[in-house]
Amino acid sequence: MRTRFIVGNWKMNKTASDAGAFVHRLSQELPHHAGIQIGLTPPFTALHAVREALGPASAVLLGAQNLYWEDKGAFTGEVSGAMLKDIGCQFVLVGHSERRQYFGDQDSWTNKKVLAALRHGLQPILCVGETLQDRDSGQTDLVIQRQLRAGLAGTEAHTLPTLTIAYEPVWAIGTGRAASPEQAVPVHRLIRRTIGELSGTDIGNHVRILYGGSVTPHNIADFLASEEIDGALVGGACLDPVSFATLVKVAIGSKPITA
Ligand code: PEP
Repeated sequence: MRTRFIVGNWKMNKTASDAGAFVHRLSQELPHHAGIQIGLTPPFTALHAVREALGPASAVLLGAQNLYWEDKGAFTGEVSGAMLKDIGCQFVLVGHSERRQYFGDQDSWTNKKVLAALRHGLQPILCVGETLQDRDSGQTDLVIQRQLRAGLAGTEAHTLPTLTIAYEPVWAIGTGRAASPEQAVPVHRLIRRTIGELSGTDIGNHVRILYGGSVTPHNIADFLASEEIDGALVGGACLDPVSFATLVKVAIGSKPITA
């Protein structure tokens, strides 16, 4: 049985000083035993403050938005998996489309980042997704399979039970134009099948596949109505703690995944 996972990605929003009030309000809104996993990815500068505000007993997982694959050294401006682990991160996003689009993250880099995350005991959330041009030219499946194959190259199946994939069509991110469940579900099926081929059916069945792209408290239930969609990666709608909590509560109330 796969546990639902809802992740709020702050992107380059909020300071360390904003963290306390956000976490306090979120905690007021959320039930103590959610029965699903909830994660937050603040900017690097707010990780410590969010960790402190959550406290040691919090069920909310702390994640980072990116990492560098080397453990330490002369890599000015970068942050390693070892550093993220040390500050209390449990998971990390890899290959978010904004990293691919604006910062040149290539498939070979996402692969090194996935391997580095696994090496440091961080759960990787590997983000994949097609552009509008890819979709319009019938390339969606090829692009997703390429991103998965490259991103997971060299991984050993026994290290992958913590792997999560986020399917995020680039054209749906931050646009207010979410994919329909009818568009997302076939891609989720393709992702599960591809991971099964790459890493074995056991991992294929257990990997969680989140949908991301303009998810809101109003449309989350439509996505979670499908057994194929195990949760969501949420940008804009997570920046307000009440909006994020509302979305999480809808996810808690939606029918559990039986696979
Ligand atoms: C994201 O940051 O991954 C994302 C999906 O953003 P938004 O929800 O704003 O589309």
